[in-house]
Amino acid sequence: MTNDHINTQFRSLPSVEQLLQEPGLGGLAGAYSHAAVVSLARQQLNDTRDAIREGINAPELQQLAADIMARAEEEWAPWPRPLVNATGVVIHTNLGRAPLSEPAMAAVTAAAGSYSDLEFDVSAGSRGSRQAHIGRLIAEVTGAETGLVVNNNASAIMLGLSAVAGHASPMPMGEVIVSRGEGVEIGGGFRIPDVLRQSGATLVEVGTTNRTYVRDYASAINEKTAAILKVHPSNFRVIGFTHEAGLDELVTLGHEHGVPVLNDLGSGCLLDTTQYGLAPEPTVQQSVDAGVELSFFSGDKLIGGPQAGIVAGNSEWVERLGRHPLARAVRIDKMGLAALSATLTSFLKENAHEEIPVWRMISMSLDTISKTAEGWLNEIDSPAVGLREGQSTVGGGSLPGETLATMLLAVTPPDSPDAFAARLRSGPTPVIARIEDEVVVLDPRTVLDGQSAAVVEAVKSALKA
Ligand SMILES: *Cc1c(COP(=O)(O)O)cnc(C)c1O
Repeated sequence: MTNDHINTQFRSLPSVEQLLQEPGLGGLAGAYSHAAVVSLARQQLNDTRDAIREGINAPELQQLAADIMARAEEEWAPWPRPLVNATGVVIHTNLGRAPLSEPAMAAVTAAAGSYSDLEFDVSAGSRGSRQAHIGRLIAEVTGAETGLVVNNNASAIMLGLSAVAGHASPMPMGEVIVSRGEGVEIGGGFRIPDVLRQSGATLVEVGTTNRTYVRDYASAINEKTAAILKVHPSNFRVIGFTHEAGLDELVTLGHEHGVPVLNDLGSGCLLDTTQYGLAPEPTVQQSVDAGVELSFFSGDKLIGGPQAGIVAGNSEWVERLGRHPLARAVRIDKMGLAALSATLTSFLKENAHEEIPVWRMISMSLDTISKTAEGWLNEIDSPAVGLREGQSTVGGGSLPGETLATMLLAVTPPDSPDAFAARLRSGPTPVIARIEDEVVVLDPRTVLDGQSAAVVEAVKSALKA
Protein backbone atom coordinates (compact mmCIF):
# COMPACT_ATOMS: atom_id res chain seq x y z
CA MET A 1 0.00 0.00 0.00
CA THR A 2 1.72 3.19 -1.17
CA ASN A 3 1.35 6.51 0.62
CA ASP A 4 0.05 7.99 -2.63
CA HIS A 5 -2.70 5.43 -2.80
CA ILE A 6 -3.66 6.03 0.82
CA ASN A 7 -3.70 9.80 0.30
CA THR A 8 -5.92 9.44 -2.77
CA GLN A 9 -8.31 7.27 -0.76
CA PHE A 10 -8.32 9.79 2.11
CA ARG A 11 -9.11 12.63 -0.30
CA SER A 12 -12.08 10.73 -1.69
CA LEU A 13 -13.71 10.68 1.75
CA PRO A 14 -16.47 13.24 2.32
CA SER A 15 -16.16 16.01 4.91
CA VAL A 16 -18.33 15.83 8.02
CA GLU A 17 -20.48 18.64 6.56
CA GLN A 18 -20.99 16.70 3.31
CA LEU A 19 -21.87 13.59 5.29
CA LEU A 20 -24.50 15.45 7.30
CA GLN A 21 -26.19 16.52 4.04
CA GLU A 22 -26.62 12.86 3.07
CA PRO A 23 -30.38 12.05 3.03
CA GLY A 24 -29.69 8.71 4.72
CA LEU A 25 -28.70 10.61 7.88
CA GLY A 26 -31.67 12.98 7.83
CA GLY A 27 -33.60 11.21 10.54
CA LEU A 28 -30.59 11.14 12.81
CA ALA A 29 -29.98 14.89 12.64
CA GLY A 30 -33.65 15.52 13.51
CA ALA A 31 -33.73 13.10 16.44
CA TYR A 32 -30.39 13.83 18.15
CA SER A 33 -28.34 16.94 18.86
CA HIS A 34 -26.17 18.36 16.06
CA ALA A 35 -23.04 17.96 18.22
CA ALA A 36 -23.77 14.30 18.91
CA VAL A 37 -24.32 13.48 15.22
CA VAL A 38 -21.16 15.39 14.22
CA SER A 39 -19.15 13.49 16.83
CA LEU A 40 -20.50 10.15 15.61
CA ALA A 41 -19.68 11.07 11.97
CA ARG A 42 -16.12 12.03 13.01
CA GLN A 43 -15.63 8.71 14.81
CA GLN A 44 -16.85 6.85 11.72
CA LEU A 45 -14.49 8.84 9.45
CA ASN A 46 -11.57 8.16 11.82
CA ASP A 47 -12.31 4.45 11.84
CA THR A 48 -12.60 4.53 8.04
CA ARG A 49 -9.16 6.19 7.75
CA ASP A 50 -7.73 3.46 9.98
CA ALA A 51 -9.32 0.84 7.74
CA ILE A 52 -7.85 2.54 4.61
CA ARG A 53 -4.39 2.37 6.20
CA GLU A 54 -5.02 -1.36 6.59
CA GLY A 55 -5.70 -1.63 2.85
CA ILE A 56 -9.48 -1.19 2.59
CA ASN A 57 -10.83 1.05 -0.21
CA ALA A 58 -12.79 4.17 0.80
CA PRO A 59 -16.52 3.35 1.03
CA GLU A 60 -19.18 5.21 -0.97
CA LEU A 61 -20.95 8.14 0.67
CA GLN A 62 -24.15 6.09 1.04
CA GLN A 63 -22.29 3.26 2.71
CA LEU A 64 -20.69 5.67 5.18
CA ALA A 65 -24.09 7.13 6.01
CA ALA A 66 -25.48 3.62 6.54
CA ASP A 67 -22.56 2.76 8.83
CA ILE A 68 -23.22 5.88 10.89
CA MET A 69 -26.90 4.98 11.17
CA ALA A 70 -25.94 1.48 12.34
CA ARG A 71 -23.55 2.98 14.87
CA ALA A 72 -26.26 5.28 16.22
CA GLU A 73 -28.61 2.32 16.45
CA GLU A 74 -26.07 0.39 18.49
CA GLU A 75 -24.79 3.17 20.75
CA TRP A 76 -27.94 5.22 21.29
CA ALA A 77 -30.63 2.53 21.50
CA PRO A 78 -32.29 2.16 24.93
CA TRP A 79 -29.99 0.36 27.34
CA PRO A 80 -29.77 -2.03 29.20
CA ARG A 81 -31.40 -4.24 26.58
CA PRO A 82 -33.63 -7.07 27.84
CA LEU A 83 -32.48 -10.54 26.84
CA VAL A 84 -33.27 -14.18 27.50
CA ASN A 85 -31.18 -16.00 30.10
CA ALA A 86 -31.26 -19.62 28.92
CA THR A 87 -28.05 -20.50 30.78
CA GLY A 88 -29.78 -22.13 33.74
CA VAL A 89 -27.79 -19.90 36.13
CA VAL A 90 -30.58 -18.36 38.24
CA ILE A 91 -28.66 -15.40 39.72
CA HIS A 92 -26.45 -14.48 36.76
CA THR A 93 -24.05 -11.70 37.77
CA ASN A 94 -23.35 -10.58 34.17
CA LEU A 95 -27.03 -10.56 33.25
CA GLY A 96 -28.25 -8.25 36.02
CA ARG A 97 -28.61 -10.78 38.85
CA ALA A 98 -32.22 -11.06 40.07
CA PRO A 99 -35.16 -10.08 37.82
CA LEU A 100 -37.72 -8.20 39.92
CA SER A 101 -41.15 -9.51 40.94
CA GLU A 102 -44.34 -7.98 39.51
CA PRO A 103 -45.09 -6.13 42.78
CA ALA A 104 -41.49 -4.83 42.91
CA MET A 105 -41.70 -3.54 39.32
CA ALA A 106 -45.02 -1.86 40.06
CA ALA A 107 -43.53 -0.24 43.17
CA VAL A 108 -40.57 1.09 41.16
CA THR A 109 -42.83 2.59 38.53
CA ALA A 110 -45.01 4.24 41.17
CA ALA A 111 -42.02 5.66 43.07
CA ALA A 112 -40.19 6.77 39.94
CA GLY A 113 -42.70 9.11 38.37
CA SER A 114 -44.29 10.75 41.37
CA TYR A 115 -43.46 12.59 44.57
CA SER A 116 -43.68 10.22 47.52
CA ASP A 117 -43.35 10.03 51.29
CA LEU A 118 -39.77 8.82 50.92
CA GLU A 119 -38.56 11.14 53.69
CA PHE A 120 -41.83 12.59 54.86
CA ASP A 121 -44.14 11.66 57.72
CA VAL A 122 -47.55 12.19 56.11
CA SER A 123 -49.60 12.16 59.34
CA ALA A 124 -47.32 14.57 61.20
CA GLY A 125 -46.65 16.69 58.11
CA SER A 126 -42.96 16.78 58.93
CA ARG A 127 -39.65 15.36 57.85
CA GLY A 128 -39.23 11.59 58.09
CA SER A 129 -36.46 9.05 57.52
CA ARG A 130 -36.02 6.97 54.38
CA GLN A 131 -34.84 4.11 56.60
CA ALA A 132 -37.76 3.95 59.05
CA HIS A 133 -40.23 1.91 56.97
CA ILE A 134 -37.68 -0.47 55.47
CA GLY A 135 -36.00 -0.89 58.87
CA ARG A 136 -39.28 -2.20 60.31
CA LEU A 137 -39.79 -4.57 57.35
CA ILE A 138 -36.27 -5.96 57.76
CA ALA A 139 -37.00 -6.50 61.46
CA GLU A 140 -40.22 -8.36 60.66
CA VAL A 141 -38.73 -10.75 58.07
CA THR A 142 -35.44 -11.45 59.89
CA GLY A 143 -36.37 -11.24 63.58
CA ALA A 144 -33.74 -8.54 64.16
CA GLU A 145 -34.47 -5.40 66.21
CA THR A 146 -34.09 -3.16 63.18
CA GLY A 147 -32.43 -2.78 59.80
CA LEU A 148 -30.76 -0.37 57.41
CA VAL A 149 -30.33 -0.37 53.64
CA VAL A 150 -27.54 1.05 51.46
CA ASN A 151 -26.45 0.70 47.82
CA ASN A 152 -25.05 -2.82 47.89
CA ASN A 153 -23.59 -5.31 50.32
CA ALA A 154 -20.02 -4.22 49.59
CA SER A 155 -20.84 -0.69 50.77
CA ALA A 156 -22.83 -2.05 53.73
CA ILE A 157 -19.76 -3.95 54.93
CA MET A 158 -17.52 -0.95 54.33
CA LEU A 159 -19.94 1.21 56.33
CA GLY A 160 -20.23 -1.39 59.08
CA LEU A 161 -16.48 -1.79 59.55
CA SER A 162 -15.93 1.98 59.38
CA ALA A 163 -18.59 2.66 62.00
CA VAL A 164 -17.51 -0.17 64.34
CA ALA A 165 -13.72 -0.08 63.97
CA GLY A 166 -12.76 2.83 61.67
CA HIS A 167 -11.35 6.31 62.35
CA ALA A 168 -14.37 7.85 64.10
CA SER A 169 -15.68 4.65 65.72
CA PRO A 170 -15.85 3.80 69.44
CA MET A 171 -12.58 1.88 68.91
CA PRO A 172 -10.68 4.03 66.37
CA MET A 173 -8.37 1.94 64.19
CA GLY A 174 -9.65 -1.02 66.14
CA GLU A 175 -8.68 -4.58 65.45
CA VAL A 176 -11.11 -6.81 63.60
CA ILE A 177 -10.57 -10.55 63.96
CA VAL A 178 -11.14 -12.66 60.84
CA SER A 179 -10.47 -16.35 60.20
CA ARG A 180 -7.70 -17.04 57.63
CA GLY A 181 -10.24 -19.18 55.79
CA GLU A 182 -12.53 -16.17 55.36
CA GLY A 183 -10.22 -13.39 54.12
CA VAL A 184 -11.78 -13.99 50.73
CA GLU A 185 -12.19 -12.19 47.41
CA ILE A 186 -15.89 -11.88 46.72
CA GLY A 187 -15.58 -10.98 43.04
CA GLY A 188 -14.59 -8.03 40.91
CA GLY A 189 -11.45 -7.60 43.06
CA PHE A 190 -13.46 -6.90 46.23
CA ARG A 191 -11.29 -8.48 48.93
CA ILE A 192 -12.19 -8.61 52.60
CA PRO A 193 -8.63 -7.67 53.78
CA ASP A 194 -8.62 -4.61 51.45
CA VAL A 195 -12.05 -3.48 52.65
CA LEU A 196 -10.90 -3.78 56.23
CA ARG A 197 -7.83 -1.63 55.56
CA GLN A 198 -9.90 0.90 53.61
CA SER A 199 -12.35 1.26 56.50
CA GLY A 200 -9.51 2.21 58.85
CA ALA A 201 -9.76 -1.02 60.82
CA THR A 202 -6.81 -3.29 61.52
CA LEU A 203 -7.07 -6.84 60.26
CA VAL A 204 -6.09 -9.59 62.65
CA GLU A 205 -6.10 -12.99 60.97
CA VAL A 206 -6.50 -16.12 63.08
CA GLY A 207 -6.53 -19.87 62.52
CA THR A 208 -5.54 -21.53 59.25
CA THR A 209 -7.11 -21.68 55.79
CA ASN A 210 -8.96 -24.91 56.54
CA ARG A 211 -9.41 -24.96 60.31
CA THR A 212 -10.25 -22.15 62.70
CA TYR A 213 -11.53 -22.72 66.24
CA VAL A 214 -13.22 -20.34 68.65
CA ARG A 215 -10.06 -20.55 70.83
CA ASP A 216 -8.11 -18.97 67.93
CA TYR A 217 -10.41 -15.95 68.10
CA ALA A 218 -10.26 -15.94 71.92
CA SER A 219 -6.47 -15.76 72.01
CA ALA A 220 -6.49 -12.76 69.62
CA ILE A 221 -8.86 -10.66 71.75
CA ASN A 222 -7.25 -7.72 73.56
CA GLU A 223 -8.15 -4.14 74.57
CA LYS A 224 -7.84 -2.96 70.92
CA THR A 225 -10.32 -5.52 69.57
CA ALA A 226 -13.28 -3.72 67.96
CA ALA A 227 -15.13 -6.62 66.35
CA ILE A 228 -15.18 -10.23 65.24
CA LEU A 229 -16.01 -10.55 61.55
CA LYS A 230 -17.45 -13.72 60.06
CA VAL A 231 -17.62 -14.00 56.27
CA HIS A 232 -19.64 -16.59 54.40
CA PRO A 233 -17.25 -17.91 51.72
CA SER A 234 -20.07 -17.90 49.23
CA ASN A 235 -18.30 -18.49 45.93
CA PHE A 236 -16.18 -21.51 46.86
CA ARG A 237 -16.23 -24.49 49.18
CA VAL A 238 -13.47 -25.98 51.27
CA ILE A 239 -13.89 -29.73 51.46
CA GLY A 240 -12.18 -32.30 53.68
CA PHE A 241 -10.27 -31.60 56.88
CA THR A 242 -12.06 -28.39 57.88
CA HIS A 243 -13.46 -26.61 60.88
CA GLU A 244 -15.02 -23.22 61.39
CA ALA A 245 -16.15 -21.63 64.62
CA GLY A 246 -19.94 -21.56 64.98
CA LEU A 247 -21.86 -18.28 65.26
CA ASP A 248 -23.13 -19.25 68.73
CA GLU A 249 -19.61 -19.76 70.05
CA LEU A 250 -18.42 -16.48 68.55
CA VAL A 251 -21.36 -14.55 69.99
CA THR A 252 -20.73 -16.04 73.43
CA LEU A 253 -17.05 -15.09 73.16
CA GLY A 254 -17.94 -11.60 71.92
CA HIS A 255 -20.36 -11.03 74.80
CA GLU A 256 -17.77 -12.12 77.36
CA HIS A 257 -15.45 -9.38 76.10
CA GLY A 258 -18.00 -6.74 75.02
CA VAL A 259 -16.99 -7.20 71.36
CA PRO A 260 -19.70 -7.16 68.63
CA VAL A 261 -19.89 -9.96 66.04
CA LEU A 262 -20.42 -8.87 62.41
CA ASN A 263 -21.58 -11.48 59.90
CA ASP A 264 -21.29 -11.06 56.12
CA LEU A 265 -23.80 -13.58 54.79
CA GLY A 266 -23.35 -12.68 51.14
CA SER A 267 -26.57 -14.00 49.64
CA GLY A 268 -28.85 -13.37 52.55
CA CYS A 269 -31.15 -16.32 52.32
CA LEU A 270 -34.52 -16.04 54.12
CA LEU A 271 -35.92 -19.44 53.11
CA ASP A 272 -34.90 -23.03 53.79
CA THR A 273 -33.02 -24.19 50.66
CA THR A 274 -33.16 -27.88 51.67
CA GLN A 275 -36.86 -28.04 50.71
CA TYR A 276 -35.68 -27.70 47.08
CA GLY A 277 -33.04 -30.41 47.33
CA LEU A 278 -30.18 -27.96 47.89
CA ALA A 279 -27.58 -27.85 50.64
CA PRO A 280 -28.59 -25.64 53.57
CA GLU A 281 -27.61 -22.02 52.87
CA PRO A 282 -27.16 -20.16 56.18
CA THR A 283 -30.22 -17.96 56.72
CA VAL A 284 -30.42 -14.42 58.02
CA GLN A 285 -32.81 -15.60 60.75
CA GLN A 286 -30.18 -18.07 62.04
CA SER A 287 -27.61 -15.28 62.17
CA VAL A 288 -30.01 -13.01 64.06
CA ASP A 289 -31.10 -15.84 66.41
CA ALA A 290 -27.48 -16.60 67.24
CA GLY A 291 -27.25 -13.06 68.63
CA VAL A 292 -24.98 -11.56 65.97
CA GLU A 293 -24.95 -7.75 66.40
CA LEU A 294 -24.90 -6.93 62.66
CA SER A 295 -25.78 -9.22 59.73
CA PHE A 296 -24.99 -8.01 56.19
CA PHE A 297 -26.43 -9.32 52.90
CA SER A 298 -27.26 -8.39 49.30
CA GLY A 299 -30.69 -7.39 48.00
CA ASP A 300 -30.23 -8.93 44.54
CA LYS A 301 -28.98 -12.43 45.30
CA LEU A 302 -31.25 -14.85 47.18
CA ILE A 303 -33.52 -12.03 48.37
CA GLY A 304 -34.43 -11.73 44.68
CA GLY A 305 -34.86 -7.96 44.75
CA PRO A 306 -32.96 -4.86 43.61
CA GLN A 307 -29.26 -4.16 44.11
CA ALA A 308 -29.01 -3.22 47.78
CA GLY A 309 -26.95 -3.86 50.88
CA ILE A 310 -29.11 -4.86 53.82
CA VAL A 311 -28.04 -4.70 57.46
CA ALA A 312 -30.15 -6.48 60.09
CA GLY A 313 -29.24 -6.13 63.71
CA ASN A 314 -29.23 -4.69 67.12
CA SER A 315 -30.69 -1.13 67.27
CA GLU A 316 -27.72 0.44 69.02
CA TRP A 317 -25.25 -0.75 66.37
CA VAL A 318 -27.54 -0.21 63.37
CA GLU A 319 -28.16 3.38 64.51
CA ARG A 320 -24.42 3.90 64.83
CA LEU A 321 -24.06 2.88 61.16
CA GLY A 322 -26.89 5.22 60.18
CA ARG A 323 -25.16 8.20 61.84
CA HIS A 324 -21.75 7.57 60.19
CA PRO A 325 -20.86 10.05 57.38
CA LEU A 326 -20.32 7.17 54.95
CA ALA A 327 -24.02 6.29 55.28
CA ARG A 328 -24.89 9.37 53.23
CA ALA A 329 -22.25 8.51 50.62
CA VAL A 330 -23.66 5.02 50.06
CA ARG A 331 -27.32 6.02 50.35
CA ILE A 332 -29.85 3.93 48.41
CA ASP A 333 -32.22 5.63 45.95
CA LYS A 334 -36.01 5.70 46.04
CA MET A 335 -36.46 3.13 43.26
CA GLY A 336 -34.24 0.62 45.03
CA LEU A 337 -36.11 1.19 48.28
CA ALA A 338 -39.49 0.79 46.57
CA ALA A 339 -38.42 -2.48 44.92
CA LEU A 340 -36.88 -3.84 48.12
CA SER A 341 -39.92 -2.92 50.18
CA ALA A 342 -42.20 -4.84 47.77
CA THR A 343 -39.77 -7.79 47.63
CA LEU A 344 -39.54 -8.12 51.42
CA THR A 345 -43.34 -7.89 51.62
CA SER A 346 -43.53 -11.09 49.50
CA PHE A 347 -41.55 -12.87 52.24
CA LEU A 348 -43.83 -11.36 54.88
CA LYS A 349 -46.84 -12.76 52.98
CA GLU A 350 -45.05 -16.12 52.67
CA ASN A 351 -45.52 -16.23 48.91
CA ALA A 352 -41.94 -15.53 47.84
CA HIS A 353 -41.80 -18.86 45.95
CA GLU A 354 -44.74 -17.69 43.79
CA GLU A 355 -44.01 -13.98 43.44
CA ILE A 356 -40.24 -13.65 43.38
CA PRO A 357 -38.71 -14.87 40.09
CA VAL A 358 -35.50 -16.20 41.67
CA TRP A 359 -37.50 -18.40 44.06
CA ARG A 360 -40.02 -19.39 41.39
CA MET A 361 -37.07 -20.67 39.35
CA ILE A 362 -35.36 -22.44 42.27
CA SER A 363 -38.62 -24.16 43.26
CA MET A 364 -39.72 -24.99 39.68
CA SER A 365 -40.49 -28.70 39.32
CA LEU A 366 -38.66 -30.88 36.81
CA ASP A 367 -42.07 -31.72 35.37
CA THR A 368 -42.86 -28.07 34.61
CA ILE A 369 -39.42 -27.56 33.08
CA SER A 370 -39.73 -30.70 30.95
CA LYS A 371 -43.11 -29.56 29.61
CA THR A 372 -41.62 -26.23 28.51
CA ALA A 373 -38.64 -27.98 26.88
CA GLU A 374 -40.98 -30.39 25.05
CA GLY A 375 -43.07 -27.44 23.86
CA TRP A 376 -39.97 -25.79 22.38
CA LEU A 377 -38.91 -29.10 20.79
CA ASN A 378 -42.27 -29.54 19.07
CA GLU A 379 -42.40 -25.99 17.79
CA ILE A 380 -38.83 -26.00 16.47
CA ASP A 381 -39.38 -29.41 14.88
CA SER A 382 -35.85 -30.09 13.60
CA PRO A 383 -33.65 -33.21 13.65
CA ALA A 384 -30.83 -31.01 15.03
CA VAL A 385 -32.76 -30.51 18.28
CA GLY A 386 -33.44 -32.88 21.16
CA LEU A 387 -33.85 -33.00 24.94
CA ARG A 388 -31.28 -33.98 27.52
CA GLU A 389 -31.14 -34.10 31.29
CA GLY A 390 -28.88 -31.52 32.87
CA GLN A 391 -28.19 -29.27 35.85
CA SER A 392 -29.15 -25.70 36.66
CA THR A 393 -27.18 -23.70 39.23
CA VAL A 394 -28.18 -20.95 41.65
CA GLY A 395 -25.21 -18.68 40.84
CA GLY A 396 -24.47 -15.23 42.20
CA GLY A 397 -21.91 -16.74 44.53
CA SER A 398 -24.69 -18.67 46.26
CA LEU A 399 -24.52 -22.39 46.97
CA PRO A 400 -21.32 -23.19 45.03
CA GLY A 401 -21.23 -26.73 43.67
CA GLU A 402 -24.97 -27.21 44.28
CA THR A 403 -27.17 -28.08 41.32
CA LEU A 404 -30.85 -28.52 40.50
CA ALA A 405 -31.95 -31.27 38.08
CA THR A 406 -33.33 -29.81 34.87
CA MET A 407 -34.35 -30.70 31.30
CA LEU A 408 -32.40 -28.97 28.55
CA LEU A 409 -33.15 -28.27 24.92
CA ALA A 410 -30.01 -29.53 23.17
CA VAL A 411 -29.06 -28.29 19.70
CA THR A 412 -26.39 -30.02 17.64
CA PRO A 413 -25.61 -27.20 15.22
CA PRO A 414 -24.76 -27.76 11.56
CA ASP A 415 -21.58 -25.71 12.09
CA SER A 416 -19.71 -24.93 15.32
CA PRO A 417 -21.43 -24.53 18.72
CA ASP A 418 -19.72 -21.14 19.18
CA ALA A 419 -21.04 -19.84 15.86
CA PHE A 420 -24.53 -21.11 16.67
CA ALA A 421 -24.49 -19.55 20.16
CA ALA A 422 -23.38 -16.26 18.56
CA ARG A 423 -26.36 -16.38 16.14
CA LEU A 424 -28.70 -16.93 19.11
CA ARG A 425 -27.33 -13.69 20.58
CA SER A 426 -27.67 -11.70 17.35
CA GLY A 427 -31.47 -11.43 17.09
CA PRO A 428 -33.75 -8.61 18.27
CA THR A 429 -33.95 -10.31 21.69
CA PRO A 430 -30.57 -11.94 22.35
CA VAL A 431 -30.79 -15.47 23.74
CA ILE A 432 -27.86 -16.51 25.94
CA ALA A 433 -27.25 -20.26 25.91
CA ARG A 434 -24.59 -22.58 27.27
CA ILE A 435 -22.27 -24.99 25.46
CA GLU A 436 -21.93 -28.45 26.98
CA ASP A 437 -20.00 -31.30 25.26
CA GLU A 438 -20.04 -29.49 21.88
CA VAL A 439 -23.82 -29.14 22.12
CA VAL A 440 -25.66 -25.83 22.58
CA VAL A 441 -28.07 -26.22 25.51
CA LEU A 442 -30.95 -24.00 26.62
CA ASP A 443 -32.41 -24.33 30.12
CA PRO A 444 -36.11 -23.44 30.51
CA ARG A 445 -35.68 -22.88 34.28
CA THR A 446 -34.27 -19.36 33.85
CA VAL A 447 -36.39 -18.34 30.84
CA LEU A 448 -39.08 -15.97 32.10
CA ASP A 449 -42.81 -16.30 31.43
CA GLY A 450 -43.55 -14.83 28.02
CA GLN A 451 -40.02 -15.39 26.64
CA SER A 452 -40.63 -18.85 25.14
CA ALA A 453 -41.63 -17.45 21.75
CA ALA A 454 -38.34 -15.54 21.56
CA VAL A 455 -36.39 -18.73 22.30
CA VAL A 456 -38.22 -20.75 19.63
CA GLU A 457 -37.80 -17.93 17.10
CA ALA A 458 -34.08 -17.52 17.84
CA VAL A 459 -33.32 -21.25 17.56
CA LYS A 460 -35.32 -21.58 14.33
CA SER A 461 -33.61 -18.64 12.67
CA ALA A 462 -30.13 -19.71 13.92
CA LEU A 463 -30.73 -23.16 12.39
CA LYS A 464 -31.74 -21.63 9.05
CA ALA A 465 -28.61 -19.48 8.73
C1 LIG B 1 -21.81 -10.95 46.90
C2 LIG B 1 -21.12 -10.81 48.18
C3 LIG B 1 -20.78 -9.52 48.67
C4 LIG B 1 -21.00 -8.28 47.87
O1 LIG B 1 -22.35 -7.99 47.74
P1 LIG B 1 -22.85 -6.90 46.67
O2 LIG B 1 -24.29 -6.73 46.98
O3 LIG B 1 -22.58 -7.50 45.33
O4 LIG B 1 -22.06 -5.66 46.89
C5 LIG B 1 -20.17 -9.45 49.90
N1 LIG B 1 -19.91 -10.56 50.62
C6 LIG B 1 -20.22 -11.81 50.19
C7 LIG B 1 -19.88 -12.99 51.04
C8 LIG B 1 -20.84 -11.98 48.95
O5 LIG B 1 -21.16 -13.19 48.52
